[in-house]
Amino acid sequence: MGWGQRRSGSADLCAVLGATGSIGASTLDVIARHPQRFHASVLSAHRNVDTLFALCQRFKPDLAVVADAAAEETLRARLASAGLATRVASGNGSLIEAAGGDLCDTVVAAIVGAAGLESTLAAARAGKRLLLANKESVVMGGALLVEALRQGGGALIPIDSEHNAIFQCLPFGRETLAASGARRILLTASGGPFREWAPSKFDSITVEDALKHPTWKMGAKITIDSATLMNKGLEIIEARWLFDVSPDQVQVIVHPQSIVHSMVEYVDGCVIAQLGVADMGIPILYALTYPERRPTPAARLDLTRVGALTFFEPDPVKFPCLRLAREALMAGGAAPIALNAANELANAAFLDRRIRFVDIPQLIERAVEAEGAGAITSIEDCIEIDARTRRRVDDWLGRAGGVSQWK
Ligand code: NAD
Ligand code: MG
Repeated sequence: MGWGQRRSGSADLCAVLGATGSIGASTLDVIARHPQRFHASVLSAHRNVDTLFALCQRFKPDLAVVADAAAEETLRARLASAGLATRVASGNGSLIEAAGGDLCDTVVAAIVGAAGLESTLAAARAGKRLLLANKESVVMGGALLVEALRQGGGALIPIDSEHNAIFQCLPFGRETLAASGARRILLTASGGPFREWAPSKFDSITVEDALKHPTWKMGAKITIDSATLMNKGLEIIEARWLFDVSPDQVQVIVHPQSIVHSMVEYVDGCVIAQLGVADMGIPILYALTYPERRPTPAARLDLTRVGALTFFEPDPVKFPCLRLAREALMAGGAAPIALNAANELANAAFLDRRIRFVDIPQLIERAVEAEGAGAITSIEDCIEIDARTRRRVDDWLGRAGGVSQWK
């Protein structure tokens, strides 16, 4: 897999998929500060027409893509009355077409969840510079993504802060651990809001408790994933594919200050770390301008004010999601897809107050067991396994009548 460099000369045409989300907003902030270098030529959102309309007024993209015909009609009417020439399209097919089409050189994959799978793969197949935040697509189709990147001849630059850090800790142009003389990845985790909570309190965790992330401000799904540590589980799988490592070459280290964004240990025992304040604008800017470094308005890291950097082993009893993700990665095939789909549903059901926090890993474990680890060879396989797992988990949740005793 190559990491590529951006074209020089005219403005880089960027498709920001998931433009109305947290990563989308941070990306558009960076783009707005570099109008000569970047043009947000394609913006996508799910059904958040109001925000997307405001973004179209500000960035004047060539194309805006939304989820369905109703949102498409509403957006088109509003754009027309505002005198904007942005074209509008809807549906997954349009998203896939936009990701692989001529309107962009760079694709920022910032849709949340499995909904980003096909557009991410389309960008890779088309040889785009793929700036990847949508980790769920790597979890589901890592092998397919690596192959699509190889065929497309494009480049992938990670936006996820840990993977962006690892990328920065590897020697220029040598993207895999083996090629760079590195031995393993030390993947840092904040530990989430429940790091210091007694296990006895886990039964009564509320949505409000779980949404209080200690260091990062992010979308709701990833914030809950950070509280269960499934986010770190998904990131182990992401690292496996992005840096071609085996699961035992990724060690998770809890680091509550979120200053060290991850590290790479080399065969000679040296460890190289990337440090900075917790601001996604920094990895996004680096991904956009790589291999150049540009100034950012982000706060400077003042280590004398931080004082101490601490590191701990994660607690496997309080946070079973880490084990579940590792097991799914080792099992391979369908297992990570089932893990991801069940996690998306369990995460949403917890946010809807239909299940308890402690039910999340139980639902996931049961779903992975039910699906098994059959081989996958195509994107269609991924989509089928994802849909089957969602039906299963929906069924379990439905039978429980929406109460927390889903079993
Ligand atoms: P978010 O919920 O804030 O935004 C999600 C975006 O995806 C929105 O624009 C939404 O309209 C769009 N979307 C949602 N469902 C969709 C669907 N079915 N079809 C098409 N579009 C849809 O999420 P976020 O926090 O910005 O995270 C985006 C991705 O980036 C996730 O995969 C997350 O794991 C990853 N990530 C986020 C952060 C962060 O700081 N927020 C950090 C690292 C990685
Ligand atoms: Mg991360």
